[in-house]
Amino acid sequence: MEQLVKFNTELIKRYDVAGPRYTSYPTAVQFMEGFDAEAYVRYTTGSNNELIPKPLSLYVHLPFCHSLCYYCGCMKKVTRHEHQGAQYLELLLREVEMQGQLFDHDREVVQLHFGGGTPTYHDDQQLQTLVAQLGRHFSLSEDDSREFSIEVDPRTISQDRLAHLAEMGFNRISLGVQDIDPAVQKAVNRIQDPEATLEMVEQSRQLGFNSVSIDLIYGLPLQTVDSFSRTIDTVVAARPDRLAVYNYAHLPHIFRAQRMIDAKDIPSPETKLKLMELTIDKLTDLGYVYIGMDHFALPEDELTIAQREGGLQRNFQGYSTRRECDLVGLGVSAIGKVGDCYAQNLKDIPSWQSVVADGKLPIWRGISLTTEDRLRRSVIESIMCHGEVEFERFEANFAIDFHDHFAFELSQLKQLEADGLIEMGNDAFTATAEGRLLLRAIAMVFDEYLQASQSEPKFSRVI
Ligand code: SF4
Repeated sequence: MEQLVKFNTELIKRYDVAGPRYTSYPTAVQFMEGFDAEAYVRYTTGSNNELIPKPLSLYVHLPFCHSLCYYCGCMKKVTRHEHQGAQYLELLLREVEMQGQLFDHDREVVQLHFGGGTPTYHDDQQLQTLVAQLGRHFSLSEDDSREFSIEVDPRTISQDRLAHLAEMGFNRISLGVQDIDPAVQKAVNRIQDPEATLEMVEQSRQLGFNSVSIDLIYGLPLQTVDSFSRTIDTVVAARPDRLAVYNYAHLPHIFRAQRMIDAKDIPSPETKLKLMELTIDKLTDLGYVYIGMDHFALPEDELTIAQREGGLQRNFQGYSTRRECDLVGLGVSAIGKVGDCYAQNLKDIPSWQSVVADGKLPIWRGISLTTEDRLRRSVIESIMCHGEVEFERFEANFAIDFHDHFAFELSQLKQLEADGLIEMGNDAFTATAEGRLLLRAIAMVFDEYLQASQSEPKFSRVI
């Protein structure tokens, strides 16, 4: 069932604490450097030996960009020296080969995502070479149901290039827009023509891309409620299948690029709240379903269907379908999830390049999940994806008595229940329409690591 969402300013203000976005559990903060390539290989072998090995999902990180967007918090390298990108790709082909050897070839790749950085920094021939290498070392699905997606910077691409991406097998596309207002674009150093971008949505459809997604950001410098309202109206006129509307978190002590933003131009917390409310009201009025944490989709989009049918997952791209897959991370800083482990590649390009050039897997850190981690991951994912937790499911899968095992957490939830974030029953609890905007506050109750460390905040806030 599609769930309702309701904006409650007071509640959002009260629960505006720094917290993880739960794209994994345990979160990357808990990954350990003692988890090395050898440990990772044990998990890949184990995953091949499962009774029915899982299909695969590949994430490929392409970190190069031509220019710097000042709000950026991604792992990227901004350079106009394209030979650096070419050098990176050469080594990426080697990593693909090494990783491909770890997985049985009959394990089909049903999901593929090129993320960045700017994947389209590389020209069509380079991207084609990379796709061909993936096809040599993995079994890329040829079924219509496969989800092969690529993040596209509209400033780097023409209609011809879009057609080439479709020919390479991509059938999902994600376009970075952020804001169409000229003053905001200038303040964040990302000038792009909105009309050309929106034409691209139409062209993508004509080329057969099944799902077109647009990214926006609220809370950027110089944004006002009126200007962002125009941005939403303009973008929605093209009827993208999905919209991700992120909250800009100004953390210049962590992300150097953000030091270029004049803090006095950033909307006040009150304005940000209004921007958030505007976004939710407008998009839901226009027929988009609120999936959770910044994501909206049309009712017939596969993300909405996955939520309806219980197949949605949180992963490093936000929300995704294909919960059944093992995820292989390729490229600098990429994170994989294989069996009961997470593994992350080295996160700076020179170190990643030097290890791959030596013919070794560039694993930097990771974590082996305990049974307790798996249980809590499952509970947290149920909250983040479906806004509900049915105790029986966890009792059956993990041989626990939910009330006994989570006595402390259930006592903590009483406050959230009193505040109207959840409705508690004997056998389940459900996020209310107001609570659906505060899913991570509910999930945080079940985060054992957060309970243990109340040190300085490492995460962004709701507003
Ligand atoms: S926002 Fe995207 S395009 Fe801009 S610098 Fe960051 S990774 Fe590159």
